[in-house]
Amino acid sequence: MSWLESIQYHGRQLGHRTLDRHLRLGVTGLSGAGKTAFISSLVHQLTVGDQTAHLPFFSVLQQGRYLGGRLAQNQPLAIPRFPYEQNLRYLSAEPAQWPPSTTGWSQLNLSLRYRPQGAIRSRLQQHSELQLEIIDYPGEWLLDLPLLQQDYRQWSTFCWQLFQQPHRQASSVAFKALLQQCDLQSLSEVQLQELTESYRSLLLQYSQQSGCYLQQPGRLLIPGELAGAPMLQLFPLLPEQLETDSPLLRRMTEHYQSYCDYVIKPFYRQHFSRLDRQVVLVDCLAALNAGYSAVQELQQALGLIMQSFRYGPASLLSRLFQPQISKVLFAASKADHVTPDQHKALTLLLQQLLQQPIKQSVYASAATEAMAIAAVRASQAGFVLQQGQRQPCISGRDLATGEPVTLYPGEVPAQIPPAGLYQQHQFQFPALLPTTQAAALPLPHVRMDHVLEFLLGDKLR
Ligand code: GDP
Repeated sequence: MSWLESIQYHGRQLGHRTLDRHLRLGVTGLSGAGKTAFISSLVHQLTVGDQTAHLPFFSVLQQGRYLGGRLAQNQPLAIPRFPYEQNLRYLSAEPAQWPPSTTGWSQLNLSLRYRPQGAIRSRLQQHSELQLEIIDYPGEWLLDLPLLQQDYRQWSTFCWQLFQQPHRQASSVAFKALLQQCDLQSLSEVQLQELTESYRSLLLQYSQQSGCYLQQPGRLLIPGELAGAPMLQLFPLLPEQLETDSPLLRRMTEHYQSYCDYVIKPFYRQHFSRLDRQVVLVDCLAALNAGYSAVQELQQALGLIMQSFRYGPASLLSRLFQPQISKVLFAASKADHVTPDQHKALTLLLQQLLQQPIKQSVYASAATEAMAIAAVRASQAGFVLQQGQRQPCISGRDLATGEPVTLYPGEVPAQIPPAGLYQQHQFQFPALLPTTQAAALPLPHVRMDHVLEFLLGDKLR
């Protein structure tokens, strides 16, 4: 290599290095919101589905500058790997299935290659690379943040107010009875464990019950690497048990404090504060199906989740950590369960659930967007003629029976419906199986190109 070639080579290397970019994208949502399907589709669209007609709003692709994506060679060794390949196998099987939901924290790294815009950069090198780290974690863990602003007594009171709600009360009876029987002054380790297990079962039961979103503490339900840790022996005592000092109250207060110090704070410090961008998936349609209390609770849970993204100067988060999330996408998932003319209403409903048009958010220092999407479109939209009128409809395969169905799922309310409406009307949005087959890849979607543009567009310039 001549000295000139050598300089050019090193210049190129330097160019590659300095223009290499890293982006850590967090994907979250409450259990069942669609994280697994979303990440599988996102990775698929970036590696296989990168055809202009398939992703019309992804500008780097439309401008002919996208050179392709692949799974990075340097996958993290100490963190569970997001099972992309297995998931794709489910989605492209014959007949296609939904992949099993992930639990806990997992990650997958991609390398995205593109030609930069702008002549100076293009002369310096042939291409640039964006290292995209996709991190999947349960939205339930974000529900823990408010615990930092409460003490154990306040948290317990909050829990029991929640458990008194009509859709929750019946399930909490057994745990309540166990608490009432226990001797606060002398509780054995075995009894403590029994109560913990009973509370854990209650949380588990709630999490499988439609319309219950607010499970705390998040790690008791999804412990991740903390399974069995003593500080997870944490449950809310009854309001009357909080009035007098007792060894059990002291023990719970201690565990609560440890949970805040050794679980919540490290999660925000080590993981959350390293994220650059965030997707929050919300299944609004399932909440509508489950009724009034469910929608109210979803709104409450989203309010708590939003606290993690409001870090104006006075916020708790900025005082404790230095979050650097610059963009947050709130996505109403499974939009393919309604006809396309309802997507606008679904987006408006999501915005209302987030309690404000998020673009005008005065708290957020991050750019935010809300949209209705389907990571993997499981329906075909069309029209049927009814009494001479064209009526929109969707068709697909019913999730429970696998049978083909064609239906009009109904209108999505653009605003949170008042309690009275549920007495006259029961929402019945369907659930469908994916219709894709290996031959039909790339995976069909709704607005994943908008998603990619919002999350990555500016990083691929
Ligand atoms: P997670 O618990 O957040 O990881 O949720 P999943 O991604 O496992 O999704 C839960 C279920 O929601 C899936 O098994 C599907 O039935 C459904 N689902 C998720 N994404 C979509 C989508 O884009 N379209 C449709 N029709 N259903 C979806």
